[in-house]
Amino acid sequence: MYKQPFIPYVTKRNKIPEIPKTTEKIREALNTIEKGYGRFKIVNKGQTETMGTNHETSLLLECRFCKSQFTGQASEGCFHSYINPMSCPVCGFPNNLIKALYQSIEDG
Ligand SMILES: [Zn+2]
Repeated sequence: MYKQPFIPYVTKRNKIPEIPKTTEKIREALNTIEKGYGRFKIVNKGQTETMGTNHETSLLLECRFCKSQFTGQASEGCFHSYINPMSCPVCGFPNNLIKALYQSIEDG
């Protein structure tokens, strides 16, 4: 079944904080991601739509890095469980930090 990709709507846009310069500090920032749904803080949960065994819940999310808020969607089924979007639409967290971490390791 074809599905439209989920496009987050930014409800609160904050200034993007500077990415930490040292490997240690980047790791620290990434450690704020807990297991499972931890990459964003769930501010609010909306309605859940059920289609067969698939449940989709609309969410209001907050980025742990830049504290911007945006809409999201939780999808849960028998074999999957994830949140859209995968990264912050404002700062790119956590991809921005993962990229910076690789770069800082390369630069040694
Ligand atoms: Zn962000």
